[in-house]
Amino acid sequence: MTDRYAVFGHPIGHSKSPRIHAAFAEQTGEAIDYTAIEAPVADFAAAWRAFVAAGGRGANVTVPFKQEAFALAEVLSPRARLAGAVNTLMLGRDGKLYGDTTDGVGLVRDLEAHAAPLVGARVLLLGAGGASRGVIEPLLEAGVASLTVANRTVAKAEALAALFADKGEVSGCGFDDVAGPFDLVINATSASLAGDLPPLPAGLFAAEGLAYDMMYAAEPTVFLRWAAEQGALSVDGLGMLIEQAAESFWLWRQVRPDTVPLRELLRREL
Ligand code: NDP
Repeated sequence: MTDRYAVFGHPIGHSKSPRIHAAFAEQTGEAIDYTAIEAPVADFAAAWRAFVAAGGRGANVTVPFKQEAFALAEVLSPRARLAGAVNTLMLGRDGKLYGDTTDGVGLVRDLEAHAAPLVGARVLLLGAGGASRGVIEPLLEAGVASLTVANRTVAKAEALAALFADKGEVSGCGFDDVAGPFDLVINATSASLAGDLPPLPAGLFAAEGLAYDMMYAAEPTVFLRWAAEQGALSVDGLGMLIEQAAESFWLWRQVRPDTVPLRELLRREL
């Protein structure tokens, strides 16, 4: 019988996850059915229960339900606990609901695929929302030397840095107080969605520094265009999306898909 999976979000019409997981299933020969479900904002839990009653085995969870999924999970992975969010749900053989997050590992795998120098790197992380929180520990584990979180609302950057203070050299500040140079600057704000650029000083990048925008689009984002003007190399978040999906697929099926063909395919389709 075909196992059922889905991505839950609101809205969800734009999601590339069904496309990605269908391609993974075809590539690996895994018999899965993966759909997109627009759950009501006020009742994610009911939508999940209905899905399970109809044979659902696991799901990806995106905006605005990552915290609801965190609350619903009966067993949380250590990385989900640190991230304070769940993007992958799965029903265990024991009948328990497991919650994990694959966004952070997705980012690190994508950075590695682009040969980003993570060990010993000085990293600036722009934004202090859910996406930032989820990637801090994986970046520290990958060996970065220091991580500065800069955010429009300074108190949120400071609070986030304090949460990870015992795990490495992490500090928080406002955009005005950012002092480079950095080997890697990651834009985890949602500013690019509105075509905005966080107010950043020039001279932020070290020689051969890399700019990474978690957002992706057919054309480079305003942040990546700005970074290119500063002499930085630039990468968008399409690969992160694919890598986090591959990690979820592995959690569900214990089979790791090859992400390279998907990178080329989805880039052409943007
Ligand atoms: P949140 O809503 O949790 O956080 C948004 C962050 O952006 C906050 O720090 C906010 O600052 C900041 N921000 C918003 N507008 C501006 C602006 N105009 N100028 C400066 N800062 C701004 O969002 P998420 O953390 O969930 O997501 C952030 C981005 O990451 C989104 O674009 C999302 O699409 C992307 N993402 C990509 C993934 C991928 O796989 N490629 C995975 C997950 C996320 P303040 O605190 O001051 O409001």
